[in-house]
Amino acid sequence: MCYDDADRAVGRQSAGPDSPSRRAFSRLLLAGTGLAALSACAPDQSPTPSGTPGSSPGPVPGTGGATPTAVAAPSGSPASNASATPTPATSSAVPPSAAAHPPSAAAHPPSAAAPGPQHSLTDPTSPWVIVNKHRPLSPANFVPPDLVRPAVRLATSGEAGLLNSTTAAAAEKMFAAAAAEGVIMTLASGYRSFATQTATYGSYVSSRGRAEADTASARPGYSEHQTGWAFDIGDGSGADAFTPQFKDRPAAIWAKANAHRFGFVVRYPWMLHPITGYYYEPWHLRFIGTQAAADMSARGIGTLEEYFGLEPAPAYR
Ligand SMILES: [Zn+2]
Repeated sequence: MCYDDADRAVGRQSAGPDSPSRRAFSRLLLAGTGLAALSACAPDQSPTPSGTPGSSPGPVPGTGGATPTAVAAPSGSPASNASATPTPATSSAVPPSAAAHPPSAAAHPPSAAAPGPQHSLTDPTSPWVIVNKHRPLSPANFVPPDLVRPAVRLATSGEAGLLNSTTAAAAEKMFAAAAAEGVIMTLASGYRSFATQTATYGSYVSSRGRAEADTASARPGYSEHQTGWAFDIGDGSGADAFTPQFKDRPAAIWAKANAHRFGFVVRYPWMLHPITGYYYEPWHLRFIGTQAAADMSARGIGTLEEYFGLEPAPAYR
């Protein structure tokens, strides 16, 4: 889902600074021992990532089951759902910020309206489009009309270095802010076309079968990377790219604490895979706009599914 599966699947190597670790990771995969690490990327069947972070908040699993399954409003303002069961503040990752909304001690209704202009949850050109294992892109072969290459440090090439123009501008600001604080971040994987995702997923199906492929790569039309609103970051050191250990790298720590100020959320937080369908990916950021991202952070809401009152999407159906 998150990393440049295509490179790995066909054995190519990125020329980025993280090549050594990616080569090592590939070797692990080839040795058949890489599932635990891989599971951190896009699994819905693999075990919880090993190396559970002692410093991680460790929210209680199972919040997905407690989450109301209100169906989203098709577009525009999120649906209200007064019957919402309070959801624990699971994404303690992000401290309350100086957002317009003070942190609320009370439970946050999952579908509370976000501040600011409202956007569609289904239109792939909308910053609030929700793509998960229940919600494929429509059209499936969508191509963002405004792909650009952001002026940031790249650890990839080709289409993976592209983002939609809004996301690219926000990424440039965020990378610059991180750098000003001494944290070097790289763009490790951005846009991924339907064709690339088809080839990537197909190669996994061919070599491992469909069930296992679904633990390693999003199905074509189901990847947030195809929207242009999401990208994976790497650390300037190149270390621990796309592995569970990445969470301890400066880039990941900084992003977790600050990304919301630039309109991003860590899309697949720790232990919320019953809702998102993906294990913790401290490298995968998703743009939703500064108001909504700050609001989510201030209210301690970890997933877009909860924030917009959508049903959990733990697996394909
Ligand atoms: Zn990703």
